[in-house]
Amino acid sequence: MAEAGTFADRVKQQADIVRIVGEYLQLKKAGQNFRGLCPFHSEKTPSFNVHPTRQIYHCFGCGKGGDVFSFVMEMEKCEFPDAVRQVAEKSGIAVPRAKDRSPQERKQNQARSALVEMHREAQTFFAKQLEGTAEGKLARAYLEDRGLNKETIERFGIGYAPSGGDVLLRFLKQKYSEKLLAESGLISRSEQGGRMYDRFRRRITFPIANESGKIVAFGARALGEDQPKYLNSPETPIYSKSNVLYHLDRAKEALRRSDFAVLVEGYMDAIAVARAGISNVVASCGTSLAEPQIKLLARFTKRVIVNYDPDVAGQTATERSISLLLEQDFEVKVLALPGKADPDKFIREQGAEAYLKVLKESPPYVDYLIARARLMDLSTGEGKLRAVNFLLPYVQKIPNRLLRSEWATRIAQQFRLDEPVLRAALSRAAAERRSEVKTQPELLGHAAKPVERRLIRLLAEGGSFRNELAHQLQQGQLYRGLETERIFSALIAAGLSSEPIEPSELAAALEERDRKTFYEILFEDSNEASWEEAQSCIDALRHRQAEQELADVQRSIEANPAGPELRGLLERKQSLMRRLAAAR
Ligand SMILES: [Zn+2]
Repeated sequence: MAEAGTFADRVKQQADIVRIVGEYLQLKKAGQNFRGLCPFHSEKTPSFNVHPTRQIYHCFGCGKGGDVFSFVMEMEKCEFPDAVRQVAEKSGIAVPRAKDRSPQERKQNQARSALVEMHREAQTFFAKQLEGTAEGKLARAYLEDRGLNKETIERFGIGYAPSGGDVLLRFLKQKYSEKLLAESGLISRSEQGGRMYDRFRRRITFPIANESGKIVAFGARALGEDQPKYLNSPETPIYSKSNVLYHLDRAKEALRRSDFAVLVEGYMDAIAVARAGISNVVASCGTSLAEPQIKLLARFTKRVIVNYDPDVAGQTATERSISLLLEQDFEVKVLALPGKADPDKFIREQGAEAYLKVLKESPPYVDYLIARARLMDLSTGEGKLRAVNFLLPYVQKIPNRLLRSEWATRIAQQFRLDEPVLRAALSRAAAERRSEVKTQPELLGHAAKPVERRLIRLLAEGGSFRNELAHQLQQGQLYRGLETERIFSALIAAGLSSEPIEPSELAAALEERDRKTFYEILFEDSNEASWEEAQSCIDALRHRQAEQELADVQRSIEANPAGPELRGLLERKQSLMRRLAAAR
């Protein structure tokens, strides 16, 4: 694994594994992956897979797998540095001269750590400015007015950048070089003369952390009428805005537990929603959601409720996000708040309960889009056509044929269109997709949810806590009723016996569909296993189990409201509700 931020890391990010592997063997597209005959063992049908987005390869025949570097090392029988150099050359990336390569890498790493440390100090500085200065008092009054109390300010690390123009600069200069300050994005340099000054002035600051909780940037809102209203850190060596989701570092647990995310536009919205008790909220920080952000989110859940601003920019961003999310197999709902409110405003005016209620009632994205299309001018044939053409690309993206057909009927009814004509248009549009689905039926959708997938991976990888994990799953019967139940059974049996797990042997005992899911999971890129993570996944399953039992109890109560068991059922309901509320 390439160390983050090194030259090797950069090469890996820029190199296209499909192209490089393709220089050694013939690859054909097969669904998301590329497939070919394995160069490491002899075979007649291809079982060697390359995953273009995860940038890994894996052979289902001989089990060899890794990244672009291990592939080149294996093929060329060379060492790691040599493989990095070769991949860089093949990818047209300038290779630093051998003698100064590693010191340069060291330097870059040092600079990055220093930038992270600088952001931490800037955060403390901004917090103190808010807390203890006359100017900060104004900012505090503004925040209070917006309903943000002291506890919230501390919880989200909100601070204040004073108006002086060089207050932060003078503070940071004591410790950091001008070069590093200029790279940090916290300090700007004037065009002429190169005079340095604070980027954020007379602004309320919101620290933006990366996935692991390290502050890498700031978002800042003008206190007065200064433009722009919102100003963020620029791209820096430690911050790329398309790779960071605001609040993700604090949302991880809740995302796993609830298995859905609320996606909002800005940090004020995210803070408002989190304060309303919905911790599984993330903000794209800007109106456009980027593909890397979606992939980041997909590691925790594949269900999203998009709740952007109701203005034109927000609507356009919503539609764009729907497209991107559908492409990544997400289940998408859209919340458009009544009264043209953004989440922050809505929660301030109507309260958390009201927000929760409308959130729960969020319609699937197609309903939202139909409502949008109905606002178009439908009085003419041309207008109707425009409305349908607006909807078609989205309907096309629905992977399930039956569901797609259902939507065709609904659209035809809604717009009083000739259904056969619409269906013909739809099936033409879907034809392209069908050919893809035919060759790769497993791509019809992920059968297993992220929490299940992660647990399966943890069980399969072994590790020191495999036995304990299997024990907990077994004891609570937590995997019963899951799509992946049979995979769990097999893994738990192996886990309890403490015998080493041989994935291919275990897979041989599974049914075809389960085997594919199992392999697919093994083929996913994943971070290092930790007991905390395993526990958080177990908690998510417990939560799901409690929710299901609650639904069962509720059904029993409704079915027989005067039965002799009513009292016991009501008690059970209360206790389940308390448990679920405590976990929220
Ligand atoms: Zn092989």
